[in-house]
Amino acid sequence: MNPPRNPQESKYHQANWKEPLLFEMSVSGKIAHRLPAVEDEVKSLAGSLDAMIPAGMRRKQSPNLPEISELQVVRHFTRLSQMNFSVSSGIYPLGSCTMKYNPLINEQAALNPGLSWLHPYQDVSTCQGALELMWELEQWLAELSGMDAVTLQPPAGAAGEFAGVMIIRAYHKQVMNEGDQRKEMLIPDAAHGTNPASAAMAGFKIVVLPSSNEGLVDLDALKAASGPQTAGLMLTNPNTIGVFEKDIGEIAGIVHDSGGLLYYDGANLNAIMGISRPGDMGFDVVHMNLHKTFSTPHGGGGPGSGPVGVKEKLTELLPVPRIAKAKDGRFDLNYNLPRSIGKVHGFYGNFGVLVRAYTYIYALGREGLRRTSETAVLNANYIAHHVSQIRGFSLPYSPNTPRMHECVISAENLAEETGVTAMHVAKRLLDLGVHSPTMYFPLIVPEALMIEPTESESKEEIDLLIGAFKQISNEAYSNPDIVKSAPHSTALRDLDEYRAAHPKTLTLSWRMHQKRTAK
Ligand SMILES: *Cc1c(COP(=O)(O)O)cnc(C)c1O
Repeated sequence: MNPPRNPQESKYHQANWKEPLLFEMSVSGKIAHRLPAVEDEVKSLAGSLDAMIPAGMRRKQSPNLPEISELQVVRHFTRLSQMNFSVSSGIYPLGSCTMKYNPLINEQAALNPGLSWLHPYQDVSTCQGALELMWELEQWLAELSGMDAVTLQPPAGAAGEFAGVMIIRAYHKQVMNEGDQRKEMLIPDAAHGTNPASAAMAGFKIVVLPSSNEGLVDLDALKAASGPQTAGLMLTNPNTIGVFEKDIGEIAGIVHDSGGLLYYDGANLNAIMGISRPGDMGFDVVHMNLHKTFSTPHGGGGPGSGPVGVKEKLTELLPVPRIAKAKDGRFDLNYNLPRSIGKVHGFYGNFGVLVRAYTYIYALGREGLRRTSETAVLNANYIAHHVSQIRGFSLPYSPNTPRMHECVISAENLAEETGVTAMHVAKRLLDLGVHSPTMYFPLIVPEALMIEPTESESKEEIDLLIGAFKQISNEAYSNPDIVKSAPHSTALRDLDEYRAAHPKTLTLSWRMHQKRTAK
C-alpha cells in the first residue's frame, strides 16, 4: 500500500514551457496529415462546389492558417495542457460547477461513427437510433426531475433558464390571457448570477428576495413580494449555501396562490438524484446541466447542454421540434406546435453531449444514480465538518444543518486575524495540488470558499484537501507572506486578477496580437 500523501511533502509542480504560438511555428508548405484517396474526392467535390458558389461569395485568398506538422500540433497542445489544471490532474472542488470525473466510456459512446457522423439534415428514417436515444434521455430526465416533458435543445444552463422563463412568460400571456400584467420575477439574493440575467433578457423586472438568518428563503419577504404582478420565483434547492430549503412546500404554496410559477435552477441535481424531485416539491419548470450532474466535460465555454423539463400544462410551449414516438414505435420530429416559444438553438441541441449523458445514466442505473448523490452529499459534509474546525475558517448559516452536495466556508476570521484572504487561500491551494474552490459566491457570505467535492473523489483525496487547508491556516498564523505570495509552483505566478478578467487587456486572437504588436 502506498503511504498516505501529506500536503507538506506534495511534489506538485506544474510544467512551464516557453511555448510559442502555432502561428509562430508555422513554416510554409508543412502539412499535418495527408489522406490521398480522400484528397481526390475533395478536389472533385471542391471543383463542383466552386461552380455552385456565386463568384461574389467566393474567398479571394486562402485563410491565413498556421502550417505545421501533426506531431508539432500534438506536442503543442500537450504542453499547454501540462501548464493547466484539470479534473484529470487533481481534485477540482469548484462549488456549483460540479467538476466530476468524465468517464471515458462516455467518450467511447460519443465516438461511435453511427452517432458522431450524423448530419442534422439527414432524413429521420436514417437516424431512428439517434432519435430513440434522445427520446429515452428525455424520459429519464423527466423521471428524475418529476416533470412531464423535457426538451434537450438548450445548449447550456443559462440557455435553459432563458427557455424556461420564456415558457413562463408565454404561459401567462397566451394560456392564461393575462397580457403583460405579470412583469416581476422573484429571485433570492443568494441565486446564481445567470438567474437574474436570464429573467432580465426575457423582459422581466427582477425582485430580489433577502435570505433569512438561516440562509434560506425568507417567507415573510416572499409573501410581501408576491402578488398579481408576480410571474414566478426562480429557486435553487439545495440552495447555493448547500442547504435544503425545508419550507419548500410553503414557498410553492405562496407563489402558486399568487398565480405565479416556480422555476427550479437544477444546474446541480447532484444531491437529489433518486432521492427527491423538483416536480414533487411543487416546481413547474426546471433546467438540468448535463455538463455538471451528468458528467459531460465542461469549462472553457462549452459545448454544454441544459435540458428543460416542464409540467403537463406547459408542454405545448416547449421549443420545436419535439421528438415524437408513433404507435408503431417509429420516431419523428414534430414542428407543429403553434404555441411553442420557437427555437432556442440550432437543430436539436448539442447531440454529442446528449450521448455522453445518456451513457452516464445508462451505466449507473437507478440505484447507481442514488448512490452517486449519497456519496456526493457525504463527501461535502465530511469537508464541511473538518474544514470549519480549522483555525480561521467557519461554516456560516445554520452550521448544525447538514449540507447537501456542497458547503460554503468563510475565511472571514482568517482575513481579519492574519490579512490572508480567501483569494490568497485559493492561490496557495494550487501549490498543494488542489484547484481553488468557487470564490466570493454566494455574495451573502464574506470571504466565501464554496467547496463541492462531488462523488468522484476518494477519502484519501479529500483528506489531502483538508490537510491543505490545515497547512494554509498554520502558515497564515505563522508566516502569512508565504500564503500571500502564492502560487509558487504553477506555470504562471503573480496573476493580476483585474487584468486577467478584463477584455481590454486580453489578447484574444492572432489578429489582435498582430495589431497590438504592430503599434
Ligand atoms: C452553472 C450554473 C448555472 C449556469 O449554467 P451554465 O451551463 O454555466 O450556463 C446556473 N445556476 C447554477 C446554480 C449553476 O451552478
